[in-house]
Amino acid sequence: MNRRAFLSVLGSGVWVAAHGQLSSPRVGQPAKPTPTVQTVRGPIAAHALGRTLPHEHVLVDFVGADLVSPSRYDPLAVFEKTIPYVRRAAELGFQTIFEATPDFLGRDAHLLARLSEASGIHFVTNTGLYGARQNKFIPPYAHHESAEQLSRRWIAEAEHGIGETGIRPGFIKSGVDPDPTLSPLHEKLVRAGALTHAATGLTFAVHTGRGPGLPQLTLLREHGVAPAAFVWVHAHGARDDDLFAAAELGAWLSFDGLNQPTLSRHLHLCTTMKARGHLGQILISHDAGWYDPAKPEGGPFRNYELLSAAFLPLLSENGFTAAEIDQLTIQNPANAFAVRRRALS
Ligand SMILES: [Zn+2]
Repeated sequence: MNRRAFLSVLGSGVWVAAHGQLSSPRVGQPAKPTPTVQTVRGPIAAHALGRTLPHEHVLVDFVGADLVSPSRYDPLAVFEKTIPYVRRAAELGFQTIFEATPDFLGRDAHLLARLSEASGIHFVTNTGLYGARQNKFIPPYAHHESAEQLSRRWIAEAEHGIGETGIRPGFIKSGVDPDPTLSPLHEKLVRAGALTHAATGLTFAVHTGRGPGLPQLTLLREHGVAPAAFVWVHAHGARDDDLFAAAELGAWLSFDGLNQPTLSRHLHLCTTMKARGHLGQILISHDAGWYDPAKPEGGPFRNYELLSAAFLPLLSENGFTAAEIDQLTIQNPANAFAVRRRALS
């Protein structure tokens, strides 16, 4: 497809057509329950996510676990600053945004619900704790509680909602430092994520980058959890050989740091993974947004446009078919985040 044809397809809405891969039992077969994804406004069928940004942010507060608080910003001002960017994503054909800001880093489920109502975009928030950056965003209780105790907190959010909001998370988000081996605390976070996945079926996405991805898959297996339950977040920063190994095991690879300087790296990764038969395990996103309450008016806000403006046309120019681009942007996120337990077989 040439660039003009590609852009006309983008504008036609074909990209948000529903796909039946996860549902629609054949006549004569017993109906299986349709897999769902938990959005901030309730569950929807996974195949209804449409074109999806699987790793973005709205507000992130880097002040640290000891000081973070919703009182540090005016939610109306944040809404008014950020809603144009969310509406623009909707105009570009995106229907769903996974918001990857964890608890103690500014996770605000109410804000996401409000943005969702105003834009029509589905937002998905998360449970879990983020240990990267030397535990700056880890609350005191996590240092002494066990993996089981932490998982009970996360399972409770999944089952009953975040605090008093009634809003339930749609995935588990954690983060580990880039050292070759996991610290005891980060190992505990990964075990807690495995336990939470086993209890809830929520997908476990971990900020890992060039850090220890494969050791996390080993830990998951100790808990009987399959690599397909795991998303290696910021995988574009890792060594190719480690990514190949993780893909062979069945993990999801999130190439989410899409920006102008990384277009060629992202193209290389998509092309290489496609050649190795792993196109169905890739997630693409910007890791953009970042309203920062410490800055005047939240500082510069990164938009969510480069994927459709530059990267999808680049894929098209490099031999990716419309069906393959649909797979990357529609079917893969639905498959990755559909709520279902993925036990080792
Ligand atoms: Zn992120």
